[in-house]
Amino acid sequence: MNYRIKYTILFVYLNLSAAGLFAQKIKPEATEDWSRKPALVTPAKYGQPPADAIVLYSGKKDLDKWEHLDGSPVKWKTKGKALIIEKDATDIRTKQPFGSVQMHVEWKTPNPKEDGSNSRGNSGVFLMGLYELQIYESYQDMSKIYYNGQAGSVYKQHIPLVNACLPPQTWQTYDIVFNAPEFNPDKTLKTPAYLTVFHNNILILNQVALKGPMKYEGYPEYTYHANKLPISLQEHDSRVSFRNIWVRELR
Ligand code: MG
Repeated sequence: MNYRIKYTILFVYLNLSAAGLFAQKIKPEATEDWSRKPALVTPAKYGQPPADAIVLYSGKKDLDKWEHLDGSPVKWKTKGKALIIEKDATDIRTKQPFGSVQMHVEWKTPNPKEDGSNSRGNSGVFLMGLYELQIYESYQDMSKIYYNGQAGSVYKQHIPLVNACLPPQTWQTYDIVFNAPEFNPDKTLKTPAYLTVFHNNILILNQVALKGPMKYEGYPEYTYHANKLPISLQEHDSRVSFRNIWVRELR
């Protein structure tokens, strides 16, 4: 055997032996964390609210949890368990304000021919009333909107990883993890908002940093706001339906 190989093997052997001899023995118990006991939460069937969820819409009886942006009672229609956008009736928002949340919402775009709208199922979930997760009829990309305006985009900020859209008139799900932005005492931005979204159980936004509140014209930028604000749903000239909306507040 070549002497260089011999010495290399000896060197490695000695190092491994030394590491074994001098390594401190760490007991398994030393890395057990008993500092915070997770609260018990009873899970539910997929999509249904778990025990600690705040139900925002499960049927007509929940309408009083919502209002239009001017504070007036909701003019959108209910049908069975669905809440249907009434054209020209403007956006609605929750009466309760929220910051960081896990949110589940189901939505369905109308038959484009019957809807008589050019906006192709346009609506949106506005976290804190400011940050829009777009709702749109993007099935197989037939509607040809810019990619950061299709279903699952953070409107005009982030293109979804994939297009997971189902056909019009089909119930679809968004499962959202939203981390609210944080501001410094001098009201400058400390940490941007982050958004993770599963569309029909498929990951489409993976912890993306939001650039600021939705802006249609120009570039978004943050301005200081409260740490909890109502969640709103957008009315954009299309009869999009919603059902089974719930949130869990994250701390
Ligand atoms: Mg929209």
